[in-house]
Amino acid sequence: MQSFSQQLINQQFINNQWVPSAGTRLLDVMNPYREVRIAQVTAGDAADVDTAVKAAKQAQPAWQALGGSARAKYLDGFADALVAHRDSIITLSATNNGKPLAEAGIDLDDAIACYRYYAGQARALDARQGELVSVEMAGVEARTYHDPVGVVGLIAPWNFPLVTSAWKLAPALAAGCTAVLKPSEVTPLPERVLAEIALEIGLPAGVLNLLNGDGEGIGAPLSHHPDVDKISFTGSNRVGEAVMQAASARTASVSLELGGKSPILVMEDADPGQAADWVMAGIYFNAGQICSATSRLLVHEDVAEALYSALAERMDALTLGDPLAEGTDLGPLTSAKQRDAVQRYLDLAEQEGLTAVRDGKHCTLPEKGYFLAPTLYRDVPVESRLWQEEIFGPVLCGHSVGSEAEAVQLANDSVFGLAATVISGDPERAKRIGRQLKAGSIWYNSEQLVLPETGWGGFKRSGIGRELGPWGLSAYLEVKHVIGPAD
Ligand code: NAD
Repeated sequence: MQSFSQQLINQQFINNQWVPSAGTRLLDVMNPYREVRIAQVTAGDAADVDTAVKAAKQAQPAWQALGGSARAKYLDGFADALVAHRDSIITLSATNNGKPLAEAGIDLDDAIACYRYYAGQARALDARQGELVSVEMAGVEARTYHDPVGVVGLIAPWNFPLVTSAWKLAPALAAGCTAVLKPSEVTPLPERVLAEIALEIGLPAGVLNLLNGDGEGIGAPLSHHPDVDKISFTGSNRVGEAVMQAASARTASVSLELGGKSPILVMEDADPGQAADWVMAGIYFNAGQICSATSRLLVHEDVAEALYSALAERMDALTLGDPLAEGTDLGPLTSAKQRDAVQRYLDLAEQEGLTAVRDGKHCTLPEKGYFLAPTLYRDVPVESRLWQEEIFGPVLCGHSVGSEAEAVQLANDSVFGLAATVISGDPERAKRIGRQLKAGSIWYNSEQLVLPETGWGGFKRSGIGRELGPWGLSAYLEVKHVIGPAD
């Protein structure tokens, strides 16, 4: 495999070839720790989209005709190649994204698990084709088939580049769809590896096309393209809504994985030290740039003081620094733009007079890099924008509650519903509380457990549809019934 970052100037991967982009604008790809440019990438152009969609459309019937078991071999091939190149991919990902090596490893390992899982699902799909439906009407036979949706546009964000693209690409290919994948222009380097792997494993030409570019150059034309049968998008609500609008003009289906403002409920019977470990894991991982970050802490007033002091202790022990260095807990934010967006919330907190348990005054930042101090505000009013809006950075807002009922009510009082966590000394109680929460993933006495077998997606404004599990495959299948006289 070539050195990924070398020749990434003005190229697109279409029909198994690196070809010049029709776009003339170039975008800088940064190392957010060193604040230096490490590559440039084309902003792309509608003409690139057109060529890639044509290639995908031409390749689709043969890819579908291969059958699930044959497609599964390629998905296993992706997983094997990602394993084989693990070290170089993780280094590349940590360098481009700013996440510590261990977290880059989790991004990659979860992606590998996803390719393997959907290899299994692709094999199982063959056995599901033509299943007999039990019908009341005498003399009638009905059978169920699952056809691929067709050509799919897959648009990914920058926070977990490998896993967010795997959650789309693996089920799409398993289903028999062909794809045009658009990585985020902020972190195009990790996903570029997928094109190199497609060549390495001999994936048929046109099955995976990868277009570098930004929203204007690639994202919008892809969402509007008449030959794209479905768009699967992960990113912000603002862009997700634009994608949905574009798809609605031709009644194309969409899957949307959008923002979150997930609660973590710490009940009065929780051990404060153990609870603090879960709270930390839920917000400071990936410098808080996680859609499912549990960024609203609802703590019972009986344990609030003990919890805040346990959190302060743990926050003081965090090491901020080089993502490639052993022992780094927090890297920089992934871009200057994201650092500035989070800083605006910190400025607002100052204006609102919020009480910081820990903030920039308690922490010395590395001299270079898009760093922000891990921050914890307590007693945040529920009317505050910091309580209500997704910040997408290392900022936790706490609020005390007097009862379980109040905790549940405030947990559900959000426009989002992606995830939630319940910490209690009584696991049965934690599960019972979890059942009352409106979110796609509820963790109890744990955090951020994302499994290929369970669904991923949100209630309310956190999105539409589910990735992962059998639901993730269904998102790329059309159900069809063949009905007639029984033999
Ligand atoms: P973003 O919406 O800015 O960008 C996402 C992708 O959309 C990028 O590839 C971007 O180039 C592209 N894009 C931009 N404008 C477009 C347009 N007009 N049409 C089509 N595509 C366009 O989001 P981001 O900053 O990359 O990611 C952060 C957001 O993603 C956060 O809100 C986070 O919560 C969300 N996210 C959600 C999940 C989830 O599973 N629910 C996972 C990760 C991130």
